[in-house]
Amino acid sequence: MPARRPQNWLSRALSGRRPNAETDLEHCPNCDRDFVYPVEWEPVSKESWWMLLRCAECDTWREATVPNAIADRFDVELDRRADVMHRALQKIDREQMVASANTMIAALRHNLIDAADFS
Ligand SMILES: [Zn+2]
Repeated sequence: MPARRPQNWLSRALSGRRPNAETDLEHCPNCDRDFVYPVEWEPVSKESWWMLLRCAECDTWREATVPNAIADRFDVELDRRADVMHRALQKIDREQMVASANTMIAALRHNLIDAADFS
């Protein structure tokens, strides 16, 4: 059986499906945002997990005990979001390196620095 793809905010929006805080753990039942992340978690059986969840938007805390399928979906969703943040950080790093290189090039062109500055 193929793995179920997680539904992200765009596919949910296009489907008209409302997120459910009991199955879409990243969804906050208090503020309706999807900024919930796990603070602590542990297996309670072979088939379920207990989690302490916190919403980064409104600071609502809640506990949830969920079956493996929901925990797995949440894990995939968190990985997807971490990947988005990682790519954004890499883009920022590249932009900062380009800005630093351009500053160095301008300083060299205007004779503001020379080899003696690096000895
Ligand atoms: Zn919230």
